[in-house]
Amino acid sequence: MKTAADVITALERTNSRLDKERVLRDAWQAGIQEFFQGAQWACDSLKTFGVKKVPVLADQDPPNFRATFHWRDFTTLAEKLQARALTGHAARDAISLAADGCSQHDWNNFYRRVLLKDLRCGVTETTINKVLKAQGAAAQAFLIPVFSCQLAEDGTDHPHRISGVRMLDNKLDGVRLLTVLDCDTQTVTQYTRNGKINDNFPQLAEFCQQLLPRLKHSILLEGEVVSNNFQALMTQVNRKKNVDTSDAHLALFDVVPLRDFQAGRCNINQQDRHDILLSLSEFLTTASQGKIYVLPKLVVDLDTPQGQETYREFNRDALEAGFEGIMIKDPLAGYATKRGFAWLKVKPFFTVDLEVQDIQPGAPGTKFENTMGAILFHGWHEGREISVSVGSGYTDKQRDEIWLLKDKLLGRVAEIETDVLTQSQNSEIWSLRFPRFVRWRGWEPGEKI
Ligand code: AMP
Repeated sequence: MKTAADVITALERTNSRLDKERVLRDAWQAGIQEFFQGAQWACDSLKTFGVKKVPVLADQDPPNFRATFHWRDFTTLAEKLQARALTGHAARDAISLAADGCSQHDWNNFYRRVLLKDLRCGVTETTINKVLKAQGAAAQAFLIPVFSCQLAEDGTDHPHRISGVRMLDNKLDGVRLLTVLDCDTQTVTQYTRNGKINDNFPQLAEFCQQLLPRLKHSILLEGEVVSNNFQALMTQVNRKKNVDTSDAHLALFDVVPLRDFQAGRCNINQQDRHDILLSLSEFLTTASQGKIYVLPKLVVDLDTPQGQETYREFNRDALEAGFEGIMIKDPLAGYATKRGFAWLKVKPFFTVDLEVQDIQPGAPGTKFENTMGAILFHGWHEGREISVSVGSGYTDKQRDEIWLLKDKLLGRVAEIETDVLTQSQNSEIWSLRFPRFVRWRGWEPGEKI
């Protein structure tokens, strides 16, 4: 194994991950750094060459062939393509010239694959990075940046975080699309949340391209592609041919300077980023005739009764409009390219007032065997009779108090949270999905505040 192309061939020969790791270790120890630089370029999603077709060398090298195109020439070519100092015909000509001066083995198995950003030897960036991390300081410069973006925690698991001043927006049922507007190369590239380039929304990319001359710095726009028909959209997103995404809209919900995104962290807070997004979107929304728009955010103080009321209304509206969830965002939080509490996702809910019908002990052997386990509630909601056992939403202290006062609580009204009414087959009576006790409504049995 002497060249980067030899490394690829060796990697292709085995399916075992351990063998692949061994090949990579041997390559590093044999000093074949070219392979690792090429792999970094090929696998770093944010570095692109702007070329879709790269010729294959079909013929074997003639006898006595001596290559005139070497690694140093390739680095020059790759850097020019990345910077878009070479584009269009000039790029195509430079690539053909390079291929002509190169051996068939090096071109087809290495240089060409790097330019196409696909090494096609069944090795992932995780494996390459794992091997490099174990190889000392010099190897660290070749680590492949792993693409990641900000993800939400599930708010249901962290109810205490649904408090204070928060920004609410709807959780749309579409596909995440991250759009990079690169001022240095004057290019627009769209990515899925896993860092795969997605070329299937050329119309949306073209509108973003029109924004580029107005920007001082490169940015990344965060958004969700939506369409009237989710199923149809899903089939188009991953299509390779005959793509029709003319119906697609891009709902933007964030913006981050590209440099910060690459560094994995942006300290501009959510509120300020939203304001920047609004100012950028004026142009985009007009240029795209509304196909690109900013998802509105509503600021609420969840520590006030008024804020709680607004929150309830927002949830109810989201349910009625058929959104799959709502997002609760911290206006003071920066942006980090990982899962975190800056964004919480929750299923929208509504509340129903119901009367206590029976108080049941916890099941034997459980934490609540000597206290209240669940309350059977009964009542009416929009003309439907409801009967439901509610076992969650209480503090341990509340359970004990309820158990002590159980005879006095019959008929008392409580507010119960749910996301949907359910009905079992052949029953007139309705129940609630994932019911949760919120609070008592009044102090007198039957009293409603
Ligand atoms: P999940 O996939 O359930 O972890 O939810 C996170 C996903 O929700 C994100 O990756 C986005 O694709 C999507 N999403 C939809 N609407 C929003 C929004 N308003 N803010 C952030 N993410 C959203």
